[in-house]
Amino acid sequence: MTNERIKELEVKLTELDDKGKQGLKKVDVLNELAFALYSTDLDRTRDYATKAIELAERLEYKKGEARGYRTIGVYFWLKGAFHEALEKTLKSLKISEEAGDEDGCASSLNNMGLINMNLGKPDLALEDHRKASEIFERLGNTESQAKTLTNIGIIYDAQEAYEEALKYFLRGLKLHEEIDNKTVLAGSHSYIGSSYRGKGDYNKALEHYLMAVDISESTGKKLDAAIAYKGIGSLYTKLQQYDQAVDYLEKALDLARQMKSKHQEISVYRYLLEMYEARQDYKTALECLKKVHSLESQIFSEESDAKIARLQVMYETEKKEKEAEIYRLKNVELEEMVARRTAELEELIYVTSHDLRTPLRAISGFSQFLYEDYFDRFDKEGKNYYDLLLKAVTRMERLLDDLLSVNALSRKKVKFSTVPSSKLIKRALEILNPPKDSEVKFDPEELPLLHCDQSKITDVFYHLISNGLKFNKRTHKRIKITARDSGKSHEFAVEDNGIGIEERHYERIFQTFQRLHQLGDYEGTGVGLSMVKRVIVEHGGKIWVESRIGKGSVFRFTLPKKSHQRR
Ligand code: ADP
Repeated sequence: MTNERIKELEVKLTELDDKGKQGLKKVDVLNELAFALYSTDLDRTRDYATKAIELAERLEYKKGEARGYRTIGVYFWLKGAFHEALEKTLKSLKISEEAGDEDGCASSLNNMGLINMNLGKPDLALEDHRKASEIFERLGNTESQAKTLTNIGIIYDAQEAYEEALKYFLRGLKLHEEIDNKTVLAGSHSYIGSSYRGKGDYNKALEHYLMAVDISESTGKKLDAAIAYKGIGSLYTKLQQYDQAVDYLEKALDLARQMKSKHQEISVYRYLLEMYEARQDYKTALECLKKVHSLESQIFSEESDAKIARLQVMYETEKKEKEAEIYRLKNVELEEMVARRTAELEELIYVTSHDLRTPLRAISGFSQFLYEDYFDRFDKEGKNYYDLLLKAVTRMERLLDDLLSVNALSRKKVKFSTVPSSKLIKRALEILNPPKDSEVKFDPEELPLLHCDQSKITDVFYHLISNGLKFNKRTHKRIKITARDSGKSHEFAVEDNGIGIEERHYERIFQTFQRLHQLGDYEGTGVGLSMVKRVIVEHGGKIWVESRIGKGSVFRFTLPKKSHQRR
């Protein structure tokens, strides 16, 4: 790929967004850039591929993610970190398989073959390449098929089966030429050169290496040029023309350094070592050997550093996942426990209040008999006690009724539907039937549509209005209902001109059976507001009161615009 193309891609990159279709395109551009740079600047290859992986993961773009990992594999491979390379490439293979991307699978297999070769596993490598070549042929991907054939050639070449190697190399070259694939022709010629050299046919070898040099100079691919220079250097060594050998090997060394490829550098030093040995310049040969060792130890420590860093990341990730899992489990357990306990409690309330009804009915029945058969015989005090007894029974009956209705309310699931809030207020007023001396004001036009449980919110309005009228000593009792938009919720206000509530009771009044007055003063059991609060909380809202003694109270509550149920 030319420098212009790389620049063009880099410009394109700045124009693309991280989201949607543009995001996918960006992954492709990042991958293309990473791949385009591997023969000239490995660090940038790594950076672009890493970015591609990150973005692809975020966008769940499997194909792009696999391609990124494949390129990172190439990066490690060229760095000489073969285990890392194999691991990343395997990952890309897995992702490609998951995504059903056959072409991607074949590419990963092909790269795995290359890496397995470097790991000294030619049999595995051969298997990988064969599989890849079959897939490519089936898919009609001639270019990639040609590359895998070349790779099979490389394996045979390494096993010194030069005839076999040449067969594959030449088949590969032919396919590349057929589709006029200039970018890999240099490599193909170098490989052919290598096999001819192995066979001892130096002239043929030189011919192919020089072709490789020519082509790589026109494509600007440093890796291709370095390989060709190395090949020519080694040929001159064989031909005992050492000065020429040094020239070419120095050129190769220079390129390897430009590419920051230690792997290539080591390889060139090995050729130099071979040459100085042949030349019997043992001092320089020893220096080359030292270089090889020092580079190898650098690679080794880089690889182990990378491994330690990776292990650290894996450890951290696993730890976080475990913690999250424990937290999740705890929460689930807690929620289940609370739900179970609540259900048990509700059951207990239900059973107990029903059980209590039986003796209460007996008391009520006997007091009835008492009234019918003995009331006349009671003196004044007796009649008074009888009166108190009857009131206590009635109150007990009401308490049990209310307890049961609280219980029934919490057992009943919220059923959401959309309704104008004014309709619910009207319904509440129908049930309540407010006394003549009172006025309940609201403007249906200004009240919002609600997404709520209609019957439960009707109850809310019922209790708030009835309290506003009940705890009110004025001759003209007034209630005003308004609403305002508070962003994600509607905020209602039910305002009365009643007796007011002291600030210290603002919380208490919402608790079950909590009342602020003597029994005789106002009727009630103290469950109304606690039911109101339950319903509001169940809908995901909040309720509070603002009040001034002697002036009146405002009960405010919110209801989310979108359904939101909490239990
Ligand atoms: P109940 O009406 O059955 O007594 P609630 O739970 O509805 O029970 O109310 C609890 C207590 O809060 C009432 O007993 C009363 O003291 C006080 N309260 C409720 N609403 C008002 C109001 N609008 N103005 C003054 N006090 C109120």
